[in-house]
Amino acid sequence: MTNPISKWNYPTTVLFGVGRIKELPASLADNAIKNPLFVTDPGLAKLPVVDSTLAILKDAGIPYGVFSDVKPNPVESNLTAGIEVFNKGGHDGVIAFGGGSALDLGKLIAFQARQTRPVWDFEDIGDWWTRASADSIVPIIAVPTTAGTGSEVGRAGVITHEATRTKKVIFHPKMMPAIVIADPELTSGMPPFITAGTGMDALAHCLEAYCAPGYHPMADGIGVEGVRLVLENLPKAFRDGSDLIARANMMSAAAMGATAFQKGLGAIHSMSHPIGSLYDTHHGMTNAVFMPYVLAFNREAIEERIERLAAYCGIDGGFDGFVAKIVSLREELNVPNTLHGLVKDLDMDAERKGLIADMAIVDPTAGGNPIKLTREGALKLLESALTGT
Ligand code: NAD
Repeated sequence: MTNPISKWNYPTTVLFGVGRIKELPASLADNAIKNPLFVTDPGLAKLPVVDSTLAILKDAGIPYGVFSDVKPNPVESNLTAGIEVFNKGGHDGVIAFGGGSALDLGKLIAFQARQTRPVWDFEDIGDWWTRASADSIVPIIAVPTTAGTGSEVGRAGVITHEATRTKKVIFHPKMMPAIVIADPELTSGMPPFITAGTGMDALAHCLEAYCAPGYHPMADGIGVEGVRLVLENLPKAFRDGSDLIARANMMSAAAMGATAFQKGLGAIHSMSHPIGSLYDTHHGMTNAVFMPYVLAFNREAIEERIERLAAYCGIDGGFDGFVAKIVSLREELNVPNTLHGLVKDLDMDAERKGLIADMAIVDPTAGGNPIKLTREGALKLLESALTGT
């Protein structure tokens, strides 16, 4: 290789560790936020983890508003409603608190609240984001309660365009949270299904970034160690949700995945996005179903890389050994082998399959797949995920 050319972006301040949620008032003060909007989802809003966090704000005498009308896989109407609440309440910053859905929506509310252009103008296509007026973004404090998407250290928000049922990635460099509070204890209440799904999402990010073509040795290094952390810690966190060391390592792996995937993602995500928007499946679980099929599909281009990764992770058997490890991890976490395990009474005709393949090949993540994802390839991957072969 001669004269490698690349662009590297690294995240923001992360206050990491058990108990650090207590530093929320100081983080708000550091960013001159006096009246934050606390954005979370309706499921979390009923859990003690939200009560105890809001109590920290109350004890510090900080006024705040709460917005929790956030669907898993958030939609445009959630954003419109959130912006209205933000503006009515005279808020000056956002606390985005939750999994990827609440984090993304909180980030998008902060980004759009004072924006004159529609959110779709900032879709992650080429350099569309350069049209943004960066001045209008209000500060964001991100507090993850799952360990998967890594949205807390990312510059993107994913939202479903309701009219076309497509998931759109909205991107702007300024959407990066000002501070992240990564407190592993906040994830300890996650039920096993969510622990497994979000953890497999972190694994998909680390793995696809590492396999994506292009010169980015830092992302590669982060991706490799992220894979190792997930393989060692996800089964522990799944078995015992109160294991705070496993939870902490998963929280790191999630942030590492999102840092690494600036290099690119691939067909796991390109296939998972249309399924998520058409069937409302959990994003990480859907990634997990596709993972071994996409590894096999890309074998020719990634075999040597995966052999090195397997050796680093202490897995025998090179490429085949690594794929076998992924399959056994899925079994251990009760991840279904096919999409039928995620969608009840799933019945796809040829037209629906064609639609999914068409959506997959234009997904922005398709460009990162080590082998060009054609319509024929996408149909093949879909068939594997439907039949388990
Ligand atoms: P999620 O945010 O949709 O949450 C899933 C469920 O877990 C919800 O019901 C929520 O209430 C519950 N939950 C969250 N934290 C909990 C806790 N501590 N205890 C108990 N329950 C808890 O799931 P997710 O996987 O974190 O996020 C998925 C979303 O993130 C999708 O919309 C996906 O497209 C998006 N995403 C974004 C990025 C990005 O870079 N911005 C990357 C990947 C995925």
